[in-house]
Amino acid sequence: INSKLPKVGTTIFTTIGKMAKEHNAVNLSQGFPDFNADPTLLALVQEAISDGHNQYAPMQGLYSLREIIAEKIQSLYGHSYHPESEITITASATQGIFTAISAFVEPRDEVILFKPAYDCYEPAVELCGGIVVPIQLEGTEFKMDWQALKNAIGPRTKMLIINTPHNPTGTILSGADMLQLQAILRDTNIVVVSDEVYEHLVYDGQAHESVAKYQDLAARSILCASFGKTFHVTGWKMGYCAAPQNLMAEFRKIHQYVVFCVNHPMQHGVAQYLKTPEHYLGLHQFYQQKRDYFLSAIQNSRFKFKPCSGTYFQILDYPDITNEPDVAFAERLIKEYRLASIPISVFNLNNEDNKQLRFCFAKTEETLDKAAEILNKI
Ligand code: GLN
Repeated sequence: INSKLPKVGTTIFTTIGKMAKEHNAVNLSQGFPDFNADPTLLALVQEAISDGHNQYAPMQGLYSLREIIAEKIQSLYGHSYHPESEITITASATQGIFTAISAFVEPRDEVILFKPAYDCYEPAVELCGGIVVPIQLEGTEFKMDWQALKNAIGPRTKMLIINTPHNPTGTILSGADMLQLQAILRDTNIVVVSDEVYEHLVYDGQAHESVAKYQDLAARSILCASFGKTFHVTGWKMGYCAAPQNLMAEFRKIHQYVVFCVNHPMQHGVAQYLKTPEHYLGLHQFYQQKRDYFLSAIQNSRFKFKPCSGTYFQILDYPDITNEPDVAFAERLIKEYRLASIPISVFNLNNEDNKQLRFCFAKTEETLDKAAEILNKI
């Protein structure tokens, strides 16, 4: 049969996860917490199941959940999305992003994204017949090249995909970056898909710069967010998208036929839980402590690093250790040292000079200790 995605194999998370299991490795590869969520949240969902909220939810999502999301965005980023027409609950941010791309990208449309890029964007664009126009983030610190963005924009540019905090690099866009972006896009019709799933994981007193903070950007953006990251429940596959009404109306035309609606009892639980802002406002402190714990444990190792600014991923540089390409080194770490990480070249980064691996620190101190012990021996 003719493959619609001939270049696509099985995702790195599945491949490395399987290998990690086979070799009984300490697993800092796929991004997920190895500890449970808050019992209060679990109890709220259990209650919703016992109370019988077990049939279809509304297609757009539970209204009370959309309402509390609108309040949260308003209070954090100052933009008001109407819960009725501008917010939709999705079965994960991945589904939201896929749906957003499907809703707007037509054959031969160009979609600009920055490399390295999270792995779900490109296949979605290609399935729509779109053409990915990649821009390389520069060097081992992944600097943004605004001139390259200006050069990449042309008459066929339909969409720009941004991701802050950024997976896999752990970098963030600053307020100045967002103003640049807003100015560059000003006289275009480009739709922005803004992947902000790590919005609450920004460190060292820095702020998350959502598209919702910038009026002109918000007017052309689909903001994609995730409860999995924020509430330590990546297996629930729940998130949401927020966008102006004209974009959201198109989004929903697709959403209703992809999933129709999303897990109902969990929406009840999350809606209740979100009413307490303390349930997410302290998350950056929680994860910054984990980042610092992990990095101080490996400060005398032969890996080099710059502490990440956001996400629960830390890039470690290994040029002092080996010349191996990252995929080979990551595989050897699993087989010889029983430690799993993610080689960043798989996020369509074609730069042999980046001797870097991604490690997830959303782990208990016990797991981080085990990983550090290994990293210190390499
Ligand atoms: N976002 C997770 C990561 O980057 C992976 C999720 C997935 O496997 N699709 O590790």
